[in-house]
Amino acid sequence: MPTSKREKRKIKGGYFWKILWVDLDREEAKPLEFDEAFASKYIGGRGFGAKLLWDQLQKGTIDPLGPENLLVISPGPLAGLYLPASGKTSFISISPETGIYGDSSMGGSFGAELRQAGFDALAISGEAKSLSYLWVDNEEARVVPNAKLREKGSLETEGMIKEDLKDEHIKVATIGPAGENRVRFACVTSDWGRNSGRTGIGAVMGSKNLKAIAVRGSKDLPVFDLSRLQKASEASFQSLRQNKNFAFWQEQGLMSVIDYVNEAGVMPTYNFREGVFEHAKKINGYEMLSKYKIGDTSCFACPMACGNVCLVKEGKYRGTVVEGPEYETACMFGSNIGVRNFAAILKANQLCDELGIDTITAGNLIGVLMEAQETGLLTEKDLDGLNLKWGAEEAILETVHRIAHRKGIGNILAEGSLGVMKQWPQLRPIISQVKGLEQSAYDARIAISMALGYATSDIGAHHARAWTIAKELEMGMDWPLEKKADLVIYHQTLRPLFDMLGVCRLPWIELGFNEHQYAEFYSAVTGIETTLDELLQRSMDLYDLTRAINMKFGILRKDDYPPDRVFNVAMTEGPHAGKILKREDYDAILDIYYQKRGWTKDGQVDKKKIAGFNDPLIST
Ligand code: SF4
Repeated sequence: MPTSKREKRKIKGGYFWKILWVDLDREEAKPLEFDEAFASKYIGGRGFGAKLLWDQLQKGTIDPLGPENLLVISPGPLAGLYLPASGKTSFISISPETGIYGDSSMGGSFGAELRQAGFDALAISGEAKSLSYLWVDNEEARVVPNAKLREKGSLETEGMIKEDLKDEHIKVATIGPAGENRVRFACVTSDWGRNSGRTGIGAVMGSKNLKAIAVRGSKDLPVFDLSRLQKASEASFQSLRQNKNFAFWQEQGLMSVIDYVNEAGVMPTYNFREGVFEHAKKINGYEMLSKYKIGDTSCFACPMACGNVCLVKEGKYRGTVVEGPEYETACMFGSNIGVRNFAAILKANQLCDELGIDTITAGNLIGVLMEAQETGLLTEKDLDGLNLKWGAEEAILETVHRIAHRKGIGNILAEGSLGVMKQWPQLRPIISQVKGLEQSAYDARIAISMALGYATSDIGAHHARAWTIAKELEMGMDWPLEKKADLVIYHQTLRPLFDMLGVCRLPWIELGFNEHQYAEFYSAVTGIETTLDELLQRSMDLYDLTRAINMKFGILRKDDYPPDRVFNVAMTEGPHAGKILKREDYDAILDIYYQKRGWTKDGQVDKKKIAGFNDPLIST
């Protein structure tokens, strides 16, 4: 007997088949249904977010800080389930920082809770009349005005909302003052310090008068074959725990990367001029362990527990407690700006979390000002009375405050690197950014695949799209360009897949977790028998979709180049002293890359492929 579409859905698992759409202008929340074709094509997480943004763009242009911008929060079909590291959720929007497609994933448990509330994603449009938070209590949702939250820090806000709703177990994602003030690299914070840090999603929330989203969920998640999932999960947990690096990883988390990058000569140092920091040992994982670390934190269902909780016990920052730092923050507020005092890094980390600022962008831009002061590109008057010498801790902390509150020079920095270059065009050559997103903490001038990864990333210069530097250093510089382009594309395909599924990529990166296992999880959970290759194809398609979104904002080949510094400034010390990338080599690898992706020489996606994204799969 033929089954209806709805009956077919019931025999499958993995999805609630509902996206909660909240219109803040009308104070209305309604569930939108989707079907199996939509789920199989876009999988979840970033896939759902990009498709919803694409549909929104068909209605007209989007100002990232306008009510028409859409904020999608989407965990993925594996999020919240009993399998390793399933606590990831993606925040997707048109980025106020870059003006193009933006996203950032967050750990913790917020995504798991949203799924337990009975939704596969949350889409928010419009602007609340006054400062409010959104309360999603299982299938009910309402907008709660609360003027008392104005200018409150992210962590303080989380506590206030839990008290307001009289439930300390709910999950809350909040912005700090920076988000309210529309700082273009404001972040979203949850679980007392897990951040959706990049591309300025916090400013999107601020522009919508949305201080926070609180969620309570108590539903069981739909799983097609529970015993198959349990078998696969238990084997996976066991393989992680048996890995020889497991204990070391738990001890240091991502701080373990510092010694590696410094020895490899690719640590961002003095505004990316150098790759070796002479004080690296003062800011590494061992320094953290010996003096500051007091505990671990973990995301949902993750035995790896990579979060470090640190306390400063003495000195002028005494009493500072923070979940962090992780590698990026330690470098961007350490070596990149000449800070050798670990306690000062912790203080900056805490301040950024409370004010709601992305530490990568903040450390990057402060490094730019320090170099500009040193070389005379900016005058004393430009610098607004700040003496930004390398390592000047107090001036650094003051700059962070000014950014969050848009005071004086902070108002210029709050516009991100695109705004800074507009104000001071002379700084363009010393700013490490791609498409307006500031480079994260790995040098790229000696690894052309890393440069290609940054340059062709759909959100700008972020390492998480293609962290290929270790492989390239291991294989040697003479490896053919063809293979390097393949490596970048593989990373840009597998890594987004983790965000589509709602799981963390670190078990694969750090503990050699077998990526085929994710196809087994997906098949067991959804009942849609799927291979890894099929999932990777969906992820390849997603890269075309986000490129198509970016093409609507004029992004083409001209925008797919790494920061100027990579071609023009050689390091003076370390294993790579004297080396720079040759522009003609980069042009060559970019041609190869486009060819392999099936894009034109100018970086355009095929029109037929783009037309395939217009399928009306959501019922409205
Ligand atoms: Fe979270 Fe770290 Fe586990 Fe990833 S490895 S899920 S970031 S605790």
